[in-house]
Amino acid sequence: MIPVTKPFLPPQGEYEKYLDGIWHRQWLTNMGPLASDLELKLKDHLKLKHLLFVTNGTVALQMAIKALDLKGEIITTPFSFVATTSSIVWEGCTPIFVDIDQDSLNIDASKIEAAITEKTSAILATHVYGNPCEVDKIEAIASKHNLKVIYDGAHAFGVEINGKSIFEYGDISICSLHATKLYHAIEGGLVITKDAKLLKKLAYMRNFGFDGPEAFAELGFNGKNSEFHAAMGLVNLKHINTIHYSRKAISERYDEKLKGFHAIKPVWNSKSSKNYAYYPVVVESEELLHKCIDNLKTYEIFVRRYFYPSLANVLPYVEAVEMNITEDIAKRVMCLPLFSELTMEEVDLICRLLLRIQNN
Ligand SMILES: *Cc1c(COP(=O)(O)O)cnc(C)c1O
Repeated sequence: MIPVTKPFLPPQGEYEKYLDGIWHRQWLTNMGPLASDLELKLKDHLKLKHLLFVTNGTVALQMAIKALDLKGEIITTPFSFVATTSSIVWEGCTPIFVDIDQDSLNIDASKIEAAITEKTSAILATHVYGNPCEVDKIEAIASKHNLKVIYDGAHAFGVEINGKSIFEYGDISICSLHATKLYHAIEGGLVITKDAKLLKKLAYMRNFGFDGPEAFAELGFNGKNSEFHAAMGLVNLKHINTIHYSRKAISERYDEKLKGFHAIKPVWNSKSSKNYAYYPVVVESEELLHKCIDNLKTYEIFVRRYFYPSLANVLPYVEAVEMNITEDIAKRVMCLPLFSELTMEEVDLICRLLLRIQNN
């Protein structure tokens, strides 16, 4: 059986070593030493000044919207994971969808201005598959119209653009450290901002708003994460280069073996590095997509329709709107298996099968 993804698991002994310390200290959560150490090591690894380790990527999105005090309408992409849209609604705001660019599959920056009204407070865009949005254009639009910018960088761990972390862009960026993401802490998320005041507010929010044992500085909730999760994050960070290079090698093998396969791949931002988080392909028709999925399934090979369907017309709590490009792409896109343990033989088999299905 070949699943679409498999969580990276380090050698068990490396994780167990951290457990000894946890048992010794008996400090399980509430920003213990491992969580603090993880924040330091991640700042160093990602070359960032500030970040917060939080419960998960969805909580990170909610914290971002709340901390920026957003109201009214938030412009966003319909081609993302449901949490991008649902966190807008959860925070009492209205998502306004703007269609994607058919090459990058990110929100089409040239269509954002037409969607701005007097109720617009922010733009929440996703770096889809880790491919950076047109951050300079989005920043220019935001400053012209006095809007905040949040980036959902759940896929974008380790991606650099113009020589710096993609997480430096926007008023706030978030990342997910969920087990299915390329770098994970089982469950976890990051909130990143360059603004020290905003960081302080976010830190209060993460811990019920506590300012000392008996005082409160902010409205807060529980956005903390545990020592057990931090330990997994610390161990996995030691393997990040291995994870990166194995995914790179697999992706390049797909590129090579799928040369005769008529599919398009997202056009990558030319100023940006790649993190090989996913291997998406957009085939010619939905019919061919179904053929591929069904046929691979008979070999116990599983791909995923990611993202399908368009968030603009499937959520019962959001008024449906037609987004032509998103709908067209969502119908024809699939992510092929990609994880560190996948062997080249397995990649070759998947590619042979795809070519055979296409040519039949
Ligand atoms: C995974 C994901 C999230 C949510 O992250 P969690 O850590 O699972 O809460 C948000 N946005 C995108 C684009 C994602 O892929």
